[in-house]
Amino acid sequence: MADHEHIIIESGDKDQPFNYAIGMHGSKFFKELKERRVFLGIRCPKCKKVYVHPRRVCGECFVEMNDFVEVGPKGRIGTFTILRYAFIDPETGEQKPVPYGYGFIKLDGADTLFQHYISIDDESKVRIGARVEPVFSEEKKGTLKDILYFRIID
Ligand SMILES: [Zn+2]
Repeated sequence: MADHEHIIIESGDKDQPFNYAIGMHGSKFFKELKERRVFLGIRCPKCKKVYVHPRRVCGECFVEMNDFVEVGPKGRIGTFTILRYAFIDPETGEQKPVPYGYGFIKLDGADTLFQHYISIDDESKVRIGARVEPVFSEEKKGTLKDILYFRIID
């Protein structure tokens, strides 16, 4: 696959009437996640900020970015919530069993936060700044579902 080939993501497990393209940098991110279980960020040549997911232009400097860097896979919780009220998950069209954790994670080497589920097996350990690592699914689809959740490691 060429670096610039675009990946098309299906809209979840339920039949939904749309697909969408995730763009050149999004495709590269998910290709690396799928094939190497690596998180890819991108560094601004001017301010050196590392964005995850990678994007084409630095929002602060308005310059094009092309310097891809590996970040994580470990990181720290930037903020989180524990959901106790069930709602329809737009990814699946079904209610996800509650309670579950969801958070914004600062992967090592990144300057932005990455959103995903956080294991709440021991709620007393879920706090801002806690070290986490991803737990990957066995199935490699090239989507965020390749990560089951992040778990606390300290
Ligand atoms: Zn910048």
